[in-house]
Amino acid sequence: MRVILPDETELELPDGASGLDAARAIGPRLAEQAVLVRVNGSVRDLRLPLADGERIQVLTTRDRDDPDALYVLRHSAAHLLAEAARRLYPGTKVAIGPPIENGFYYDFEFPEPVTEEALERLEEEMRREIAEGRSWERWETSRDEARGFFEQEGEPYKVELVDTAEGDISFYRQGDFVDLCRGPHLQNAEPIKAVKLLSLAGAYWRGDETRPQLTRVYGTAFFDPQDLEDYLQRIEEAKRRDHRRLGRTLGLFDFSERAPGMAFWHPRGMVVWNVLEDLRRRENARRGYEEVRTPQLYDSDLWRTSGHWEKFQEHMFRLEIEGRDFGLKPMNCPGHCLLYSLSPHSYRELPLRIAEAGNLHRNELSGVLHGLLRVRHFVQDDAHIYCTQEQIQDELLACLDYAYYLYDLFDLDMRVELSLRPDNKLGTDEEWDFAEEELRKALASKGLDYVESEGEGSFYGPKIDLHMDDSLGRSWQLGTVQLDLQMPKRFGLAYQGDDNAEHTPAMIHRALLGSLERFVGVYLEHTGGELPLFLAPEQVRILPVSDSHRSEAESLADRLRADGFRVQVDEREETVSRRIRDAELAKVPYVVVWGDRESLDSVSVRRRSGEQSVTSADALAEELRSAARL
Ligand SMILES: [Zn+2]
Ligand SMILES: [Zn+2]
Repeated sequence: MRVILPDETELELPDGASGLDAARAIGPRLAEQAVLVRVNGSVRDLRLPLADGERIQVLTTRDRDDPDALYVLRHSAAHLLAEAARRLYPGTKVAIGPPIENGFYYDFEFPEPVTEEALERLEEEMRREIAEGRSWERWETSRDEARGFFEQEGEPYKVELVDTAEGDISFYRQGDFVDLCRGPHLQNAEPIKAVKLLSLAGAYWRGDETRPQLTRVYGTAFFDPQDLEDYLQRIEEAKRRDHRRLGRTLGLFDFSERAPGMAFWHPRGMVVWNVLEDLRRRENARRGYEEVRTPQLYDSDLWRTSGHWEKFQEHMFRLEIEGRDFGLKPMNCPGHCLLYSLSPHSYRELPLRIAEAGNLHRNELSGVLHGLLRVRHFVQDDAHIYCTQEQIQDELLACLDYAYYLYDLFDLDMRVELSLRPDNKLGTDEEWDFAEEELRKALASKGLDYVESEGEGSFYGPKIDLHMDDSLGRSWQLGTVQLDLQMPKRFGLAYQGDDNAEHTPAMIHRALLGSLERFVGVYLEHTGGELPLFLAPEQVRILPVSDSHRSEAESLADRLRADGFRVQVDEREETVSRRIRDAELAKVPYVVVWGDRESLDSVSVRRRSGEQSVTSADALAEELRSAARL
């Protein structure tokens, strides 16, 4: 048989040859350094056979930044961790240990609870294993044999995994540890040049809080020690910027176990919230949207019409009232369609743009909740546009204009993704051809670069997804603009055309910042809490040097408040330097120290950037006005 190499040359191999055989045929050095083979774009274990005509690429220890190579390296490190845990803590039961973005974890049921000090011991043992040498052996087995093996080993979680596994069962062994695993794995542990265990966390078996709580050990591994150093520096920075920490230290929001996944907003947090809310309301009004308000709770009948009962039910909170099944809304669209249907419409009213920052609830598993980034209760800057087919293009363009107005305001770098029809789509291929083409046209006329992702669209329509890249190199989806020809049909929505006949409107769903909770979380981490002036809960803090300066400090505060700025006077009996330090920790953008030399004509200002100057109260107000950009 023949396989095709990345340079388009063909390689002749005996039938049944593996990726490793292919590497050997190319050269012994390549075979020695090989970590996996990529076949027609997806990863495959080196030990598995290739087939005639496949395009292959052998990845080696030199592909140290390749996500697939790192994936295999880290997955192999996870197996070393499990081996170490079973040796150091006899009686430990092992659950699952996948690679994840930037590392890996393994879930264990330790015989006794362990503390952070276990991380060092386990890491030491993994290093010993690597130094001693480990290689991976792979074989396939029957389901019965696999179950028997794990029963004998006293591994109930593995038994359950065998019972629910799909397809063939394969085992990997290194040292005295055998794991149920699909692979792929390294040939041996030598390429693991740097390994670090990072943290412990509780994790329910299969994310289900009614199942046992296990201990999740997080770690990472690299092909190069320097890569580990760089990574550890990045996570230090991420910790400093963790929005949950910033939310507390800046007094913005909090959480309670009594309302998992739902934020409590403190007054300073509400200032931020209301700035976003005012911005939304102002821009909606400017751009021809009208506000509506719709209920929280609907008969399951509505969700059946919208298709959510079928496609989204597991994410909904349900309750029974007087024998009827109800669901809390996880999104605003069905309520808006119902609202539209309650009165007759003429083509003269279209496009009808209705906006609502409704309270939404989604039933996320408690194990995946994460600060403001993954919540059960949230609010979106949501709107729906009902329009004629001819109006679609202009409306899409207006949505994109609006989106980029906001992203510029927040100084965000965006990437665009066009998500196309999924397998579970509603409607015909012709409708999807039309809808996808409308979105492409809009992106082209805005001159936006984008990538297309097959199968990622919503079940009712294709969408333009707007992702931001944050200062730590992570990517977050914020906005979405979706063209939907299905929901209006399902709800029997109509308008009377200028031909007096009834027509079905098209519907555009759009949210631009997305969930406001999530946006605040992402933006805090992106900025490290240094919010732009227009968003800062406290914009100016004035520090009177002594008691005798208080009334003058207050008069400056009043002068600036009259212009609409959020100003506080810190009159605490602390030293000036201590109070300056506190203002810095609170990330207040402007600090004024008021002493003997100060007057409304001569104000000494310290900016968050570190820049200091003496200016007049009027000039300061002018500077604030232009910096606020709103
Ligand atoms: Zn594995
Ligand atoms: Zn919608």
